[in-house]
Amino acid sequence: MHYVMIEDNEGQLIEAIPVCSESCARQYCSDNGLDYDGWNGCHELEFDDYCGSCESVIVGVLGAYVY
Ligand SMILES: [Zn+2]
Repeated sequence: MHYVMIEDNEGQLIEAIPVCSESCARQYCSDNGLDYDGWNGCHELEFDDYCGSCESVIVGVLGAYVY
């Protein structure tokens, strides 16, 4: 999986949006008027989450989070 990192003008991380693939990262950025700043590598997800763009499930290492 992948994160789209949203930073403020000073480079402080505001939000990390989970996305399932690079194409979804690009899509998310264009949908939200963000500059796509490149693939920032693969991340391991702890719990299942949803792609910020296509909303498919991203399976985490530990499975679904139990609330
Ligand atoms: Zn996706």
